[in-house]
Amino acid sequence: MNPRFYADMALVPGHSVSLPEQAARHVQVLRLQPGAPLTLFNGQGNGQGSGQPVSEGEFEATVERMGRSEVQVLVGAYSASAREAGRAIHLAVVMPTNERMDWLIEKATELGAASIQPLMSERSVLRLKGERADKKLAHWRAAATAACEQCGRNRLPLIHDVSNLADWLKTGQTPASGAGTRLLLSLQDGTRPLSQAVASSGALTFLSGPEGGLSAAEEAAALASGFVPVTLGPRILRAETAPLACLALLTLITPA
Ligand code: SAM
Repeated sequence: MNPRFYADMALVPGHSVSLPEQAARHVQVLRLQPGAPLTLFNGQGNGQGSGQPVSEGEFEATVERMGRSEVQVLVGAYSASAREAGRAIHLAVVMPTNERMDWLIEKATELGAASIQPLMSERSVLRLKGERADKKLAHWRAAATAACEQCGRNRLPLIHDVSNLADWLKTGQTPASGAGTRLLLSLQDGTRPLSQAVASSGALTFLSGPEGGLSAAEEAAALASGFVPVTLGPRILRAETAPLACLALLTLITPA
């Protein structure tokens, strides 16, 4: 696979473009030379981009000119390979502590998550607001972009702004809003096995708690808003493991 770069810009076969700063720097670091082949993609499920027309696939490209910081490439043929999961799976995750959340974002992107909603709850260790939240979001979105460049996905997962669980539940996560079947990963009684709660197709949203778990009131609020409690078995998985286990299971057995 040629080196892949996300380029938040219009890409038109036969046209030359000057790569965005981040991609240009990456090309420089790889010491690519004129004539070197590469792959460009501009699909952003997260609406982050500059509103340019996006594609679901990728473009062949060739380095034309290497300036001091600018890199000009000739855009080549388009192919529609998106390498997306066979169904939309959304993770609503009460954030584990710092580096574990970074790791979760990268792995969830590789595993095909359609979107990730970072949440805070009563027992959250990681609490973010204002400029610190903005910086973390930029960091996570960059990590997701790098994971797409690495794994071959051509659509960036949507990474929502950080929210409180209570506020997020009130925003009306409904099947019609694209959330599909909403499942609460729960250690309480009254759950059923994941296999009994998941249909063979259609969108899914998984809600999972932090290291200290969700409070009884938070679980009740999730159930009251339509989430179905499911268990992942007798072992207590870490806050970053549980949602990834569901994502891996469902994206790897549902044919893309
Ligand atoms: N001490 C916490 C408790 O008792 O709730 C443990 C929380 S666990 C480290 C973090 C989150 O992962 C939980 O809130 C839950 O959403 C999910 N989780 C972990 N193991 C699970 C399992 N076996 N079944 C369902 N969800 C699980």
